[in-house]
Amino acid sequence: MATSAPGKNPRLRLRLTAAAEAKVRSGHPWVFAESIREANREAAAGELVVIYDRRDRFLAAGLFDPESPIRVRILHRGKPVPIDHTWWSKQLAKAVRLRRSLFDAQTTGFRWLNGESDGWPGMVLDRYADTLVVKLYTSAWLPHLPEIQPIIEEQLQPERIVLRLSRNIQQTAVSRFGKRDGEILVGPALDGPVVFRETGLQFEADVLRGQKTGFFLDQRENRRRVEQLSKGRTVLNAFSFSGGFSLYAARGRASAVSDLDISAHSLDSGRRNFELNSSISAVANCARESIQADAFDWLENNRERKFDLTILDPPSLARREAERVRALGAYSRLTALGLAHLAPGGILLACSCSAHVSAKEFFEAVRSAASKSKRNFQELETAAHPPDHPATFQEAEYLKAIFIQLRG
Ligand code: SAH
Repeated sequence: MATSAPGKNPRLRLRLTAAAEAKVRSGHPWVFAESIREANREAAAGELVVIYDRRDRFLAAGLFDPESPIRVRILHRGKPVPIDHTWWSKQLAKAVRLRRSLFDAQTTGFRWLNGESDGWPGMVLDRYADTLVVKLYTSAWLPHLPEIQPIIEEQLQPERIVLRLSRNIQQTAVSRFGKRDGEILVGPALDGPVVFRETGLQFEADVLRGQKTGFFLDQRENRRRVEQLSKGRTVLNAFSFSGGFSLYAARGRASAVSDLDISAHSLDSGRRNFELNSSISAVANCARESIQADAFDWLENNRERKFDLTILDPPSLARREAERVRALGAYSRLTALGLAHLAPGGILLACSCSAHVSAKEFFEAVRSAASKSKRNFQELETAAHPPDHPATFQEAEYLKAIFIQLRG
């Protein structure tokens, strides 16, 4: 690390508990507030900190966030290096290189940077055609934006960069850094959604206000699988959002798709996405229905409606560890309800995006609910993260999916 400039505060130096030190050494990217044993001074959001081990050797460097229980997010481990323009450039180039071979011109929406797992802790960078969206989950990045933004522009040459902020940092972002959620950092203003391609299908993404960065890019591979399984089937897409799974089902020659979502806004977007792809004959030939309802209620109260393929992709049902057990109960209930709507030979895709629920627990909840349904079923496959959303540590592994098929 470079030493601090004269007249400035000395570099923030930390020492950790033995357990936290071992965790950082083994590659974990977070240091929690209660693991900090010693600090040479107070520090502000975004300061670069150096962590020393018990023998006073350099252990790691990271970004400090005084407002988050995750007090430090690790940027670098091993030998000391200056965290400067060259270092940031190499970090971005590494992530970009990993993805260059993954996508062709038919897919212009994907993730360039997936936070910690790409070495950019607490930051996501998504591409939607010529628009990039930077989403920050810690205000520690805000003072570094002026340095990082030109590096992104230089390597990725976007027309526009949009800034999105997680809810918990929006107030600090405005009051301390003058930055707002949905602000355009560079490029022309936007008066509507951005249209991009995913495996040749066109979708709109509400990058200024939509959930996540405007679209659920993480489900691409599961959608492709749905496309392969859809021929001749009637499909229920529960928690449909903007209809991602429905468009793939339609292109895969489903006879009809029903989008079920509590939000009229989501259903409207799903309808527009269907229209965007009406030049594809399979999409034009697929009947589409919008159902605006609470999915749990609707599934409970409309048992006479049967489908050949049912997709359950609810929002995170456990946002905190304390909600984990209740979430598992909800996943079981959803599975039972989903199966009750399946016609003989029908397929159920059950997904979870709750980081607090492990893959093992989720799959067990689904399998055991399926067994309790007394219907004969077989498991087709399970899936985790797509390659542009790597997950290098346990807390990052939020996405899991399981496909099961009824035998009769
Ligand atoms: N499957 C989608 C992503 C789902 S996001 C995709 O591939 O893009 C979760 C969606 O669930 C949101 O659109 C939200 O409006 C909807 N939702 C949340 N709670 C709901 C509920 N109780 N019933 C129905 N929909 C709900």
